[in-house]
Amino acid sequence: MKKALITGSRGQDGAYLSRFLLDKGYKVYGADRGGDTGIWRLRELGIEGKVKEISLDLLEPTNIMDALEKIMPNEIYNFAAQSIVKLSFDQPVLTAEVNAVGVTRMLEAIRKVCPAARFYQASTAELFGSTGGAQRNETTAFYPKSPYAVAKLYAHWITVNYRQAYGLHANCGILFNHESPLRGEEFVTRKITAAAASIKKGLQEKVTVGNLEARRDWGYAKEYVEGMWLILQQPKPDDYILATGETHTVREFVEAAFAAAGIKLKWKGSGLSEKGLNAKTGKVVVEVSKEFYRPAEVDLLVGDASKAKLKLGWKPKTGFAELVKLMVDAELKRLEKKKVNL
Ligand code: NAP
Ligand code: GDP
Repeated sequence: MKKALITGSRGQDGAYLSRFLLDKGYKVYGADRGGDTGIWRLRELGIEGKVKEISLDLLEPTNIMDALEKIMPNEIYNFAAQSIVKLSFDQPVLTAEVNAVGVTRMLEAIRKVCPAARFYQASTAELFGSTGGAQRNETTAFYPKSPYAVAKLYAHWITVNYRQAYGLHANCGILFNHESPLRGEEFVTRKITAAAASIKKGLQEKVTVGNLEARRDWGYAKEYVEGMWLILQQPKPDDYILATGETHTVREFVEAAFAAAGIKLKWKGSGLSEKGLNAKTGKVVVEVSKEFYRPAEVDLLVGDASKAKLKLGWKPKTGFAELVKLMVDAELKRLEKKKVNL
């Protein structure tokens, strides 16, 4: 039986990957900082209690050494991170400690304790910054635009360095945004889908967002974890992009989410005074505020996952409209379940 260690296992990707690996017959160890945060995700996937819990903070080297010595994993997926781009502008040092130095702590521990283990580092499309309309591939230069992305850039290169210097099976998945009903509400997609469902049910009046013109390449997280696993099954370590190759604006996401909830939107005004109105009732359901803008913005992201398709046989299946709809449907179902349980 193969043993996998997943850090950040109660986050979105950790939960989906735990489920995926359990289904494949792995013994799965989930490393988290403790407390109840994120356990709801494992519950929703029906795997609460099936993942062996390990207490681990990437800030604490002793935790990492102890976990590796105890488990001696075959595969390690490092998802633990301060993953919120906007928050990284307010907590740049903490973000660097966890997202950059934390990965070095992990790699050093692997080198000393279990050098034969295969390692996956969660790199990100944010490494590219926004560099025009062309799709990014594994040879495109990086130009990070946030403390989050700068820290992840360090993590990316230290992973490549440990591969080259020590021969570790160390891999980076450069993943474009991937979303799901298990996404944190700090991220724009889940914020919008949760709000659209609440507004539809009369539980909320409106949602306030930031930059409506930012474009992202949004895929379905459940499919991306299979790509991560495939990366670790390759005989040679390498770096791969996972992406859909399509890009949409936040505005398009808002329109699609409200449409999926049965609300047609009409836009009025511009800039910070722009409002999204329920076309039928005339009520304001979307507002824009500076609060959700960033000091530096990545305007456009779109990825080219040809290498993953060719070498891993991986490609995304769920399109944009389908993804938005499945997220809104999940929120509506949650609200109905909550009502029944009241
Ligand atoms: P997520 O839901 O935010 O999960 C991150 C996890 O990291 C949480 O379980 C969090 O635990 C944990 N964590 C935070 N600080 C930690 C620390 N100091 N020590 C140990 N654990 C810590 O993120 P995700 O969407 O699943 O993404 C997984 C990884 O992929 C992240 O590294 C993210 O940056 C990267 N990534 C994500 C995307 C995407 O679109 N989702 C795209 C590219 C890259 P708490 O609950 O205790 O905070
Ligand atoms: P990111 O790509 O990892 O930063 O994922 P997010 O979901 O946090 O943000 C995606 C894009 O949506 C960024 O360009 C944000 O500026 C934009 N955006 C617009 N309004 C909001 C909002 O209210 N919250 C968040 N998180 N992002 C927003």
